Amino acid sequence: MMKDYKYILVVGLGYRSGLTVANFLARKNYRVAVSDMKSGNEISSIAEKLDASVEKFLGNQDPSILDRGFDLIVLSPGVPQRIPLIRTAIESGIEVISEVELAYRFMKGIIVSITGTDGKSTTTALTGEIFRRLGFRTFVGGNIGVPLTSLAEDTDDESISVVELSSFQLETLDSYRSDVSAILNVAPDHLDRYDSMEDYFDAKKNIYRNGNEGDVFVYNLDNEMLRNSAAEFPAGSLCFSKSDRGADAFYSEGSIFLKERGAGDAVIDCSKLIIMGMHNVENVMAALLMVVSILKKKGIAPDYEKIAEACYSFPGLEHRMEFLGTYMGRSFYNDSKATTVGALEVALKSIPEKGVLIMGGRTKGDDYSRLKPLVKDKIRTLVLIGESTEEFSGIFSESSQVTAGDLDDAIVRAFSESGEGDIILLSPACASFDMFKSYEERGERFRQAFEKLKNGDLN
Ligand code: ADP
Repeated sequence: MMKDYKYILVVGLGYRSGLTVANFLARKNYRVAVSDMKSGNEISSIAEKLDASVEKFLGNQDPSILDRGFDLIVLSPGVPQRIPLIRTAIESGIEVISEVELAYRFMKGIIVSITGTDGKSTTTALTGEIFRRLGFRTFVGGNIGVPLTSLAEDTDDESISVVELSSFQLETLDSYRSDVSAILNVAPDHLDRYDSMEDYFDAKKNIYRNGNEGDVFVYNLDNEMLRNSAAEFPAGSLCFSKSDRGADAFYSEGSIFLKERGAGDAVIDCSKLIIMGMHNVENVMAALLMVVSILKKKGIAPDYEKIAEACYSFPGLEHRMEFLGTYMGRSFYNDSKATTVGALEVALKSIPEKGVLIMGGRTKGDDYSRLKPLVKDKIRTLVLIGESTEEFSGIFSESSQVTAGDLDDAIVRAFSESGEGDIILLSPACASFDMFKSYEERGERFRQAFEKLKNGDLN
């Protein structure tokens, strides 16, 4: 429930959610102001979309504006809590909340929340898809790119909202509560200091902290940090595992089983999934446990056939091992989102057959030599693109390799280096900024290159 605030300040307009929040509150007749460190000129395209009633304090975030008497501050994702404006606000007792917390105060119905170092968007989209297939009014939002405030008012007592939360969003929750929540994994290599690792993990645990009796928390038993914390998790928590048949959802010999259904009755035949790799098996197990828990809460018997169908037809998200199609016996995958060594590692482990890999771009100081054994095992030929070409040519000197100027050139070379039954994969392990605006643009250009190749336009 939202209290009756007199004057609300939205901090951080340069992010999509800041604009959505300010206009949302203005529509609800709150007195609203926005603050951003960027000047009106720099963010004019966003500022001009603000409701006319919203006051603007742009180009300076001096704490003195707090003298105007705000009684609530809504902080956009990406604006750190340590900036003087926010520190001063907290010290003087002004309530500071995040966009997610604000939206929550207007949301109705069931809330399912998902966090983790990797796999958040995929699992959020899949869980939403299963609920949709089961006939629920379903909303998908949060960190996945749809601000929660943009959908909060459409929710009702019967709807289900599936919400992706980043650690940052979890840091600033207050009353936010989920009926079911999940932490998919916590990877220590995302941080360099033990202190902040603890903080990072601690923020993630906020996902279940406001839980009531009957709420369910789902976690990955194979993840060391999560397994070691299992004793602190709420009673009735559920876990999934790729190997431990005692887990509530587990993988064994190509199938996924749920403990409550018994080890004789598989729920998912993994060979029928479009999304590839054991990391996606984990994402499916998490989604299954969340869906079944909600159905139980609602007193509905799970329709396992429909649930499986929803998983089998889920194509995955764009740019994440996205299947583009086949041409002359080769299967083409766009994994442009793979901007790190870890992401390429997961991709290579997930491909069943040999393939040709298009990689390269702007490096981020990762240890690329770690990839050598997997590249040797899974890749026939490397097609190198981007400014890392010389460096990678040296690191992977034992592998067959060719170089390409752009993605059209790369796909033609990859095709001629491949054979029938091969996979042709763009999984750069690098940022895209040397050649493209974003990983999305890189993936889009690869899709276009594939279309041109199929249509005979690249000869
Ligand atoms: P996020 O939203 O957490 O960034 P995505 O669902 O967008 O995650 O997936 C991004 C990449 O993370 C994938 O392309 C894959 O390389 C990797 N990934 C996905 N799921 C997992 C998982 N469960 N464990 C480890 N890595 C994963």
